[in-house]
Amino acid sequence: MSQAGAVLLDIEGTTTPIDFVYRVLFPYAQAKVGEFLAARADDPDVAADIDGLRGEHARDVAAGRHPPEWGQAPAAVAAYARWLMDQDRKATALKSLQGKVWALGYASGALKGQVYEDVPRALARWTKAGKAVAIFSSGSVLAQKLIFGHTNFGDLTPYLSGYFDTTTGPKGEAESYARIAATLGCEPGVMLFVSDVFAELEAARAAGLQTALAVRSDTLPTSAAHRPIMTFDKLT
Ligand SMILES: [Mg+2]
Repeated sequence: MSQAGAVLLDIEGTTTPIDFVYRVLFPYAQAKVGEFLAARADDPDVAADIDGLRGEHARDVAAGRHPPEWGQAPAAVAAYARWLMDQDRKATALKSLQGKVWALGYASGALKGQVYEDVPRALARWTKAGKAVAIFSSGSVLAQKLIFGHTNFGDLTPYLSGYFDTTTGPKGEAESYARIAATLGCEPGVMLFVSDVFAELEAARAAGLQTALAVRSDTLPTSAAHRPIMTFDKLT
């Protein structure tokens, strides 16, 4: 039980520029998925993603959405994966495949997770004060670990004690925050949730958490009902 409390952080628009995923991660996966599948299609983990994509494709055809023609050849699978990415589809198999492509990109140094410059020192400060720090993002837990494991300020994962994605529940529902508090062993009242999205802050407040609205240089405030903070330096 953490009596010192906990800080729960959104990623996009809070720790990280809001367009990082769209400007950096998605284009990288688009560019590299063909090459990745050509090299790794026989790996059991990758083959499982391809099976998942085949099922997704069948559903697309049944729904009359006219995806590119299915084929087991890596080039055909990659064409369908790119088609899904163009539509910002959140299919589990696609997310899993994207995660693997990104993992290689981070490992090679081609990708760096971006965080605002005040984030590393805030993580250090909160950890020193005995607080648990956790992430709640709609990006997968794997994607979260990759971003924080390979940032422009180095590996920040030693500061993080929990990663939550939408498998815990939607970010707009109070129950998700209650569940996270229980998992972290914290009373909701000693937890601070920071996000740039009003609906998420409302849900967290409804679960009893403290809230702060992140207002970054590349985002606009969406609410005056939650305390706006321009930098983590002001959060103790
Ligand atoms: Mg956000």
